[in-house]
Amino acid sequence: MTNPCILCVAITGSVPTKANNPAVPITIQEQIESTHEAYEVGASIAHCHVRDDEGKPTSDPDRFARLMEGIKAHCPDMIIQLSTGGRSGSGRDRGGMLPLRPDMASLAVGSNNFPTRVYENSPDLVDWLASEMIAYDVMPEIEAFDLSHIVQAARMAKDGRIKAPLYVQFVMNVKNAMPADERIFDFYIETLKRFAPDALWCAAGVGPAQIEVNEWAISKGGHTRAGLEDNMRLDRDTLAPSNAALIKRAVDLCEKYERPVATSKQARQILGLRPAG
Ligand SMILES: [Zn+2]
Repeated sequence: MTNPCILCVAITGSVPTKANNPAVPITIQEQIESTHEAYEVGASIAHCHVRDDEGKPTSDPDRFARLMEGIKAHCPDMIIQLSTGGRSGSGRDRGGMLPLRPDMASLAVGSNNFPTRVYENSPDLVDWLASEMIAYDVMPEIEAFDLSHIVQAARMAKDGRIKAPLYVQFVMNVKNAMPADERIFDFYIETLKRFAPDALWCAAGVGPAQIEVNEWAISKGGHTRAGLEDNMRLDRDTLAPSNAALIKRAVDLCEKYERPVATSKQARQILGLRPAG
């Protein structure tokens, strides 16, 4: 039985700048082009943040709308996932783009530390974001930076605050949060299966851990994410030339472990998403 692997490209994020790596797409036009290159190589989900005219993170729904339109025009069937992450806005501004009805949106269900700040996700705000996602038929991707986030997501699916089945992303190697550690990774999978047996999972590693976490996820039957948001280098001495180059490394790993790379259409079926439109 084949188990196609869904590859998500995290194109921009909130932190990387052109000074870090000139390949980081900042303008909407650059983002559309970079997404298209990654789509051609095998990415079926685009994880999107937007920036303002100065390159700073924003939650501006108009910019998200323009980005969605461009991706839909150039990447047929590609799944669009908008970030509701806390670096680009605060409070309910973080969900201001949900009425655009993207296929998916990221959802953090608990708090933890980030490199220089608290990643604050209060229970009230989490419940509100989750209810907006139900109202607008947006599938959440749970961003699990900690074991407690996996258990909390399972609770929320059980009591109906999140529509089941869950799609949970294990995010590893964020400074001051959980490291990229294979035994912890295995325990995450085991815990998710125990608390939410029908859940699907994917994983992302930050910085040099990106390729390592890609390999764990692909070899253990999950889905995975790569891209310049999480990691700007191919190795210590080499900047990644594009998002597509980072996706290509994941594609090569899929080949190594004999996993077909999911097309966007297949990814929609696996995740139970509505057809592109
Ligand atoms: Zn993000």
